[in-house]
Amino acid sequence: MYRSTALIRKNGLKADGNILKSLVMKNNKIRFISTTQKNSNLTTTTLLSNSNPGSSSPNLNNDNNKLSTNIEFLDTLNKQELFQLSCIGIATLNKFVLNSVIKLFPYIPMKVIKGLVYQYYCGGETFNDVVETGKRLSERGIDNMMISLTIEDCNGEKNIDIDYIVDESIKSIDHILVPNLINQSKNINQIPPGYIALKPTALVSDPKNVLKNFNHPDYEKQRNELIENCSKIIEHACNKNIELSKQFPDRKSPFIIVVIDAESFELQQNVYILQRILSERFNKDEHEFISVVGTIQMYLKQSYDMILKELELASKNNYKIGLKLVRGAYLHTEPNRAQVIHDTKEDTDSNYNKGISFIINEIIKKGNNSTCSHLVVASHNDQSLVKTTNLLKKNSSLNSNNIVLGQLLGMADDIGFKLINEMNAKNIIKYVPWGPPFETKEYLKRRLEENGDSLTSRTDTGLGLLKGVVKTITKRLF
Ligand SMILES: Cc1cc2nc3c(=O)[nH]c(=O)nc-3n(C[C@H](O)[C@H](O)[C@H](O)COP(=O)(O)OP(=O)(O)OC[C@H]3O[C@@H](n4cnc5c(N)ncnc54)[C@H](O)[C@@H]3O)c2cc1C
Repeated sequence: MYRSTALIRKNGLKADGNILKSLVMKNNKIRFISTTQKNSNLTTTTLLSNSNPGSSSPNLNNDNNKLSTNIEFLDTLNKQELFQLSCIGIATLNKFVLNSVIKLFPYIPMKVIKGLVYQYYCGGETFNDVVETGKRLSERGIDNMMISLTIEDCNGEKNIDIDYIVDESIKSIDHILVPNLINQSKNINQIPPGYIALKPTALVSDPKNVLKNFNHPDYEKQRNELIENCSKIIEHACNKNIELSKQFPDRKSPFIIVVIDAESFELQQNVYILQRILSERFNKDEHEFISVVGTIQMYLKQSYDMILKELELASKNNYKIGLKLVRGAYLHTEPNRAQVIHDTKEDTDSNYNKGISFIINEIIKKGNNSTCSHLVVASHNDQSLVKTTNLLKKNSSLNSNNIVLGQLLGMADDIGFKLINEMNAKNIIKYVPWGPPFETKEYLKRRLEENGDSLTSRTDTGLGLLKGVVKTITKRLF
């Protein structure tokens, strides 16, 4: 299906890789291995516990917003996934092994990588692969995806075929997101929207300079190209929303949403402008549903004010907004970290949770008239996810298809499992990177690199994971 993958080059998706969690289970016994970065230091939990499948009440810690780590689990992992987890365990055994794997990674043939770790983190290479990934997720109670064709060229050094990316993204709405919504046996009104994530740096040549000089007359042509490339994809989503709402008139939330991903601080300042232009164009009051959502990185000191600013501008100019809240993925590469990023992890956490509360309260207070009509809580942090789920539970007027929880494929599966099975969450979606093998190889390498920092203070991470997987496999065999 890739007519010219050779033309497509990318740095890889900048997803934060500082959490590695896995869960495995056999006959109601669980093995849970979690590694979580806190204040840039790793904390590791290795738990072996009996399950309690009959339990229906949420198992929360004292602060009522934290899932207990002593969790139960349903056996959702097949043999191949267990095998791939054991490879991840080996690769993260200690800093030396991890560094060696990272060094060797470019030389490992994609065929080998595919067998070792690919399926755990990537949705596949073709539309059909991703549709199948969607089916597997749906069997686990995760009914939709935020798909991302993993192609970008932040430094403008690669000769990417941007028209191809635009075309392929449009087609992915028709060939992945629409079938994934309408072919499920569930009532469509209970399924969260399907999302397509766009990286602005993938949709224009020389993206860094264009985004840095967005309003400079010398860059007007490229700036307009970027806006038009995004617009073509969003327009298609918008038309699908109109078409599908005729077919399913009872639905109270969008069917398809395009999400603009956030970039590093210096580029992000103009990505905000891009988000505004697109929201004004496609989230007009006359449309029943919004079709584009922007991203705010809550680790930024400016972020809370930015939410207020976006609401004010939208209200003044008669359009709606939707927001994806993330903590932010550029902590270790941000040159002005002290100036722009919150001083501590705790500050980031509290700002993130404040953002969630503020937006949900706006939606509760203003109902259909709320200027912000859609929230994606994109996080693996159990406190943020449980907090959102509790707010949804307390306010029955809220439509959970408009307040959605998102995690990267292969991440926080333990938390997702608990939210689904103990808190009855039906609003979880997974960020599913997909695309040409070369590009996804870069994505996987970045994940390993990002895990590198976390391993400095620990040596038992990979071993714990490995032991859990081996025990599970052994139990299945005997
Ligand atoms: C669906 C999805 C979409 C995403 N899209 C984007 C995107 O468009 N752009 C983007 O930048 N990221 C994106 N991310 C990544 C995201 O920003 C986080 O890096 C990642 O999710 C880890 O944060 P967390 O909320 O899961 O939880 P946690 O593990 O609780 O938090 C880790 C995060 O906390 C912050 N942090 C850690 N230490 C400190 C410290 N000392 N001081 C201040 N802050 C600190 C950092 O942001 C770090 O990534 C996305 C993530 C998901 C799940």
